[in-house]
Amino acid sequence: MTSAHTKKRILTGDRPTGKLHLGHYVGSLSNRIKLQDQYECFFIIADLHTLTTKPTKEEISVIPQNIRDLVIDHLAVGIDPEKVTFYIQSAVKEVYQLNLIFEMLVTVPRLSRLPSIKEMARNAHIEEEQVPFGLLGYPVLQAADILMHRAHLVPVGKDNEAHVEITREIARRFNYLYGEIFPEPDVLVPDVGTLPGADGQGKMSKSAGNAIFLSDDAKTVEQKVRGMYTDPNRIRADIPGRVEGNPVFAYHDAFNPNLDEVNDLKERYRQGKVGDVEVKKKLAVALNNFLDPFRERRAMYEAKSAMVDEIIAAGNERTRAIARETVAMMEEAMGLTYFRV
Ligand code: ATP
Ligand code: MG
Repeated sequence: MTSAHTKKRILTGDRPTGKLHLGHYVGSLSNRIKLQDQYECFFIIADLHTLTTKPTKEEISVIPQNIRDLVIDHLAVGIDPEKVTFYIQSAVKEVYQLNLIFEMLVTVPRLSRLPSIKEMARNAHIEEEQVPFGLLGYPVLQAADILMHRAHLVPVGKDNEAHVEITREIARRFNYLYGEIFPEPDVLVPDVGTLPGADGQGKMSKSAGNAIFLSDDAKTVEQKVRGMYTDPNRIRADIPGRVEGNPVFAYHDAFNPNLDEVNDLKERYRQGKVGDVEVKKKLAVALNNFLDPFRERRAMYEAKSAMVDEIIAAGNERTRAIARETVAMMEEAMGLTYFRV
């Protein structure tokens, strides 16, 4: 075992936009569960980032519940609050200071060229001429989040790699101008697949309405599995079916630990010797077995709701200590220390 001081530091996190689903488990949570034992982990709940496309009071009013859901989803799957520091982005004010300074170290054309900004604007139905300054600055604020921790590693989805590249450029630029303050963080893109949606249309995503949530109860899971898209050409159970690209089997592969059962179902499906009903029933059982331990832990945390608030408050406090240190180092390096009283 390495001690906390020699462990590399990780920053990762999510925007508080709603409950997490099985796609999140495959794409990020399963990886985070492993990382928590190997690294010093900070987990940002990036509420300020939601304001880039959702700035109204009404949109802000749902954030607190989303934060609770996000933290409880993490705790439920086995993220240990003793190992991971959860904190709220807007609660650590130093990030505003870092953000402003970093805005001086990146060009507007560099940010404008990022496909991700255009995509976020498109998804939020924002016209090109209506893109807020803050949305263009999304990767700069992300740099502030990461460099505030002087993090070494940033686990992100593939869609976010280009943003971490901006962070690296800002760190280099800062270090070149003022001296070596910031480690240039490496991106850690987990080698995981994408979970398809229950409707067979693209990936599982909450806005597409095709998600099975980690917080769904057993009945809801059964219902969603029953309605799941399978092989559309298979109108009767005795017609040979396609296993590849069939979400029901993608889920069996991801969540059913009984390989003999899965292989047997695939074999019989290909031969037209099993009905969709049986395949789905066994999937519902596997998913509920998978989710049951999470449900138990969730119930425990929900019964002690003050505990979640305490976890967040303690995380904010731990993060503030690091953030104050970083800002002091930054201002010192820049010579931005005059007329302080
Ligand atoms: P929205 O519909 O609002 O875009 P979402 O459900 O697609 O939400 P995101 O917030 O876009 O979720 O996803 C955050 C991260 O979770 C992604 O970068 C990715 O790492 C992971 N993720 C989300 N959905 C999936 C999926 N279906 N398969 C694998 N990973 C996923
Ligand atoms: Mg998405």
